Amino acid sequence: MTQVAETGSARSGAAPAAGSGETIRIHHWIGGRSVEGASGRSGPVYNPATGVLTKQVDFASVEDVDAAVRTAAEAFPAWRATSLSKRTEILFKIRNLVDQHRADIAALLTAEHGKVPSDALGEVARGLENIEFATGIPHLLKGGFSEQASTGVDVYQIRQPLGVVAGITPFNFPAMVPMWMFANAIACGNTFILKPSEKDPSASIFIAELLKEAGLPEGVFNVVHGDKVAVDAILEHPAIKAVSFVGSTPIARYIYETGTKHGKRVQALGGAKNHMVVLPDADVDMAADAAVSAAYGSSGERCMAISVVVAVGDVADPLVEAIQSRLPKIKVGPGTDPSAEMGPLVTREHRDKVASFIDSGAAQGATVVEDGRDHPLASGDGFFLGVSLLDNVKPGMDSYENEIFGPVLEVVRVPTYTEAVELVNENPYGNGTAIFTRDGGAARQFQFEVEVGMVGINVPIPVPVAYYSFGGWKSSLFGDTHMYGPEGIQFYTHAKVVTSRWPDPGTSKVDLGFPRTR
Ligand code: NAD
Repeated sequence: MTQVAETGSARSGAAPAAGSGETIRIHHWIGGRSVEGASGRSGPVYNPATGVLTKQVDFASVEDVDAAVRTAAEAFPAWRATSLSKRTEILFKIRNLVDQHRADIAALLTAEHGKVPSDALGEVARGLENIEFATGIPHLLKGGFSEQASTGVDVYQIRQPLGVVAGITPFNFPAMVPMWMFANAIACGNTFILKPSEKDPSASIFIAELLKEAGLPEGVFNVVHGDKVAVDAILEHPAIKAVSFVGSTPIARYIYETGTKHGKRVQALGGAKNHMVVLPDADVDMAADAAVSAAYGSSGERCMAISVVVAVGDVADPLVEAIQSRLPKIKVGPGTDPSAEMGPLVTREHRDKVASFIDSGAAQGATVVEDGRDHPLASGDGFFLGVSLLDNVKPGMDSYENEIFGPVLEVVRVPTYTEAVELVNENPYGNGTAIFTRDGGAARQFQFEVEVGMVGINVPIPVPVAYYSFGGWKSSLFGDTHMYGPEGIQFYTHAKVVTSRWPDPGTSKVDLGFPRTR
């Protein structure tokens, strides 16, 4: 049985004392301080590179969630009344603190998620862009004003915060995805409850401490850890007005259906199967570099990873050869090895599930060009798997029909561009896609007709910059608004339209007719 070693935060003690036999306990963050959970339940946190249990994280009860929501609700009136210039000042301080602590946050990501430092630093950088966007909140909240809409009547729109809002986030971006949500949410004047992934929860607490240091008032940002109990308590809590979710498609659908049933505004981003179409005129080396980088970066645990290369016509043989030739050079290893380019999978179970798709692919007729289970680290204590490449994959195979979310790249060969687009459009997911070609007309046609939310033209991972919004189509997103950027501001605010008149009392009279503008 794991012992409770200390009540300090993950930031103040990222590892137990050597030989102490103690495991760090990660608590909730409510009202600007670390709060021990009352449920008695907890979950394990591993170092995926070693397979060692390093921490236990509290799992919130319904009462724990309620305590956080009450605290956030109490903080809301003062926070929404805080001037835009004061909110901006705090956001700039948050921005600077996150910037100063990039390496500390990245180290927590490496320790619990397993991603290598260069990748972890990239995650923090892309998250930070959302905080930078939110520092422009005075401009972002400006509404329209129509003078003299009718004689002596002005009409204007203002955007007001919703109240307490919540974010539920996945394991694969423990810092960036929370930043997608809370930066805009609090900038708009809401108070926020974060339920991070239970697999790698420490970054959220570290960030909470930075927010406090930046001067964010107590109760504006809170973290509750946990599993379905905490999630359901959030979805059902009457004081929570909106829920942002990022995770797998079955849970996204559940979050959307349950949250909206309880009267909440919900945006729920789900899983993906991202196709990269390579036309016969593409630069084969450039396409191979892009496919390898986008498929195996972060061990394929990215919702925007390329998981399928669609090789059109006679580009297939040279492309598969070019991809295969790059695979032996990929350095798989722990984040503590500065030369490592690809780390482990997040858990042993996930690693084994990813590996099972190599078997099913082979059994169903795919050609296993490279089998990641042959990598020496795949038989060690860490949750490693080498890179895998499956060729001649076809729709209907289990490996094609499922989101693998691991370092397995599949190649589907099609004779023409038309069949490539049909393949992408028939897929139930619509998160990201890319086309590699030198033909501007073909790229433009692809952008016109592909049924996917984020499209790259010779760009394999087209994650929008923070001043656009992120979101897929079809089973990759449930809800009406995409996440962060302008649509994030819209999601976290109500619009209110005011029609005003300051008449000369001498002109006032009773008129039961419908008000006219002319
Ligand atoms: P997940 O769906 O298992 O978990 C996401 C969150 O939901 C976690 O906080 C988890 O605690 C909670 N959760 C899990 N099971 C639940 C249940 N039964 N009831 C209520 N809550 C539950 O996802 P994950 O494995 O953490 O993350 C990987 C998935 O996220 C992949 O499918 C990936 O494509 C997707 N993802 C999507 C995007 C996007 O922007 N579309 C971005 C990142 C990740």
